Amino acid sequence: MAEAASASCVFCRIVRGHIPSRKVYEDDELVVFHDIHPAAPVHLLIVPKVHVESLISATGEHEPLLGKMLLLAPRLAREQGATDGFRLIVNNGPGGGQEVFHLHFHVLGGPRPWRHMSVGR
Ligand code: 5GP
Ligand code: ZN
Repeated sequence: MAEAASASCVFCRIVRGHIPSRKVYEDDELVVFHDIHPAAPVHLLIVPKVHVESLISATGEHEPLLGKMLLLAPRLAREQGATDGFRLIVNNGPGGGQEVFHLHFHVLGGPRPWRHMSVGR
């Protein structure tokens, strides 16, 4: 399933460098880049390189990866200028307002006001 989804998946294409993005972090398992349509002065997307649709389809094998994603959020939020805190959002499935079906964490921060984030269409 991972391979089948990846050809048409926008985040798989970003991971492979087929679509440009403003990356702020990359390692062997993760990439982090600025959201193309930011809802706040700092709006990052933490994206695993492996294609997992959402937390709904995550399993025990993803536990270390998920922990790494969580711990990266405060570090990158601070590094990118969200010095007084940040919001972490994970939309899961159509009912959760997810639009890109490749697991990602939104990291939002910086001075208000923030744009109202879409909760799905
Ligand atoms: P979701 O609603 O799935 O949680 O959020 C998907 C996010 O991906 C949206 O905030 C949207 O702006 C962002 N996004 C969609 N396509 C692209 C893209 O090609 N590049 C970047 N940088 N962000 C994208
Ligand atoms: Zn993908």
